[in-house]
Amino acid sequence: MVSGDLNRRESGIFTVDEIKEIWTNRSWSGKKSGNPLVVRGGYNCRHQFSYVNPDWYEEDDRFEEETPTISKKIQEQNKNDILNSNNTFTYNKNININEFNNALTRLNGQQEVTNKINEFINSKNISVMFIPRTIGRQAVRDKYFNDMKTMYKKNSDQDLDERIFQRIPKRMNGFTVKKDSFIATVVDSKDNLDFKNVDLEKLQENVRKTLKEARDDAGRYTLKRGTERFNLQWSFSKSQEGNIANQKLQTTLHELGHQIHFWATDDNRNFAKKLGQKLTVYGETNDKEYYAELFTAYATNRKALQEFYPDLTKAMDEMLDKAIKSKTKAIGIDF
Ligand SMILES: [Zn+2]
Repeated sequence: MVSGDLNRRESGIFTVDEIKEIWTNRSWSGKKSGNPLVVRGGYNCRHQFSYVNPDWYEEDDRFEEETPTISKKIQEQNKNDILNSNNTFTYNKNININEFNNALTRLNGQQEVTNKINEFINSKNISVMFIPRTIGRQAVRDKYFNDMKTMYKKNSDQDLDERIFQRIPKRMNGFTVKKDSFIATVVDSKDNLDFKNVDLEKLQENVRKTLKEARDDAGRYTLKRGTERFNLQWSFSKSQEGNIANQKLQTTLHELGHQIHFWATDDNRNFAKKLGQKLTVYGETNDKEYYAELFTAYATNRKALQEFYPDLTKAMDEMLDKAIKSKTKAIGIDF
């Protein structure tokens, strides 16, 4: 968000240096003298400063709320394919959805989980979109948005809201919207994403390593500013750095994890926090991100999750089953 397509003046996000510069170079009626961080606006001013750590804005899902509407649409689909042309949009033909399916179905020891993921996607009419990072630009949307809209409407009976795509923060890697049934993975064109480059062995090994480090308090992420340190890796997606196909597979699963969370009932939504088991730095953002991160590990290496976090594995098994059976999406939950 800090580096994103955001009207920062309107939203009031500035760096300390920018505040000082504005303070030095501008004057207004009633302006006080002194340090702007101490005296703030001036006469009768009620402005306050809140500190925002840019480290927390790597990726997120900030489009939210309103009442979710559930699609009643039932349609013929090829249930053997996790992603198919009815439920997937890719802006680039190199992003081959069959290769995505191949990767998931060939993961070692994941057959049962992958079948359930397939069942969830098909039963809830989840649409998956691989969109270019430049989607915020009108010219780019002119090129792709009609096809995105058509696919989405065909699969879910819902209309795709173009406004959501106008304001994607620059560094965001994926997002989903609670009231809608799509997940979006943001792709950088220069990365030449191609899912045939998924390295399955490395993928599962990295997930295991991230989980092991979390359990052993041995991760290596440290916040750049501020005092808090986490002995965790940043995220399951980032732990795949060096292989963009691995990273984007993880991001897609992370976003899917949010939808599973929304569909599963809310009675044990805080199970992770209660157990006090940290997984990744990004997962510590809030319960939603924790759940999405947990699902990412579960969806790629359940065996490793079972090895280090048996309680979470059992809870995930139950949550996924609940999400599949659920007829309603969680509404009005205060996460
Ligand atoms: Zn998320």
